[in-house]
Amino acid sequence: MTRALILGGTSDANVLAAEIARAGFDAVYSYGGRTRAPAGQPLPIRIGGFGGVNGLADYIRQERITHVIDATHPFAAEMSRNAVAACAETQTPLIALERAPWAKVPGDHWIEVADIAAAVAALPKTPARVFLAIGRQHIAPFSEKPQHTYTLRFVDPPEGDLPFEADVIVSRGPFTLQSELEMLRSRNIGWIVARNSGGDGARAKIDAGRALGLPVVTIARPQLPERHRVESVAEVMAWLGHRACLGA
Ligand code: NAP
Repeated sequence: MTRALILGGTSDANVLAAEIARAGFDAVYSYGGRTRAPAGQPLPIRIGGFGGVNGLADYIRQERITHVIDATHPFAAEMSRNAVAACAETQTPLIALERAPWAKVPGDHWIEVADIAAAVAALPKTPARVFLAIGRQHIAPFSEKPQHTYTLRFVDPPEGDLPFEADVIVSRGPFTLQSELEMLRSRNIGWIVARNSGGDGARAKIDAGRALGLPVVTIARPQLPERHRVESVAEVMAWLGHRACLGA
């Protein structure tokens, strides 16, 4: 009998969870526990790390998980690597639901870099107003360029001190082209730093950057081990054997 584990924390995982619940599959939705007050799920949830590869493998065995769906954020690389290793160890089928990265279109002024250190280096020497659209855990290296005024945006208010003084926006979104244009204009932002997350939800800032002719430093996705990867919920449902979704 199918019992799926969804590694979630993304809007794609939430859509998948709704489909899985509708189809009547037995499943558990797992949150990393980084943000507070996760949105309600139609499936049983668990919150927090498993304890590395061994912890996840133990969980898979104890909970009699038959299928693992890695629907984490494309930059949640540690969880994704652990899933590949734990599924190999327990011989559990794994699929990754991962949205396609954004592709550059005419009018974009992207500076594509491999990682955060390269993003810091890509910022100018002269003072600028920079919107850092990256998670809180990644902002510290930008202290190396203290000449800039940084705007940060978080889902939850930051706990404790930030590594540098910044203009902090607390918002869960959704963000539209209009709201992003207003945010960038009202702060006179000259540069954007963003990870190439892909998907529609986070794309408005990229579109707004293009509309305003701003340079956007885009950080490439981390390299992950080879795994079965799809881009749509329908493909995951088909993989689970839900016939009604085939060809959707
Ligand atoms: P990460 O660096 O890959 O994960 C760090 C550790 O957190 C993992 O090794 C694992 O701990 C635990 N973890 C992560 N996701 C988990 C999950 N869904 N269920 C149980 N444990 C999980 O991940 P991250 O970048 O910190 O992201 C954490 C969560 O936030 C993910 O669920 C991700 O989908 C979501 N999220 C991340 C971003 C982002 O920008 N990175 C954006 C939106 C949502 P153990 O090793 O102890 O198992």
